[in-house]
Amino acid sequence: MFGRKAAEKLDNTAAALHKVGGKAGEAVANAVIAPVRRQIDTDCTRCANGKCKKH
Ligand SMILES: [Zn+2]
Repeated sequence: MFGRKAAEKLDNTAAALHKVGGKAGEAVANAVIAPVRRQIDTDCTRCANGKCKKH
């Protein structure tokens, strides 16, 4: 199973994609990362770290 560490990695990767790729990066993140991320029952780790700009 995926844990919080995996969630953190995914959240950071999604944020990085959004940063470099803009809308295209976000589309990739939504297509590739979001389905995996949804399987992890953990709140947004970037919110927890105070680094989230999405929530
Ligand atoms: Zn968040």
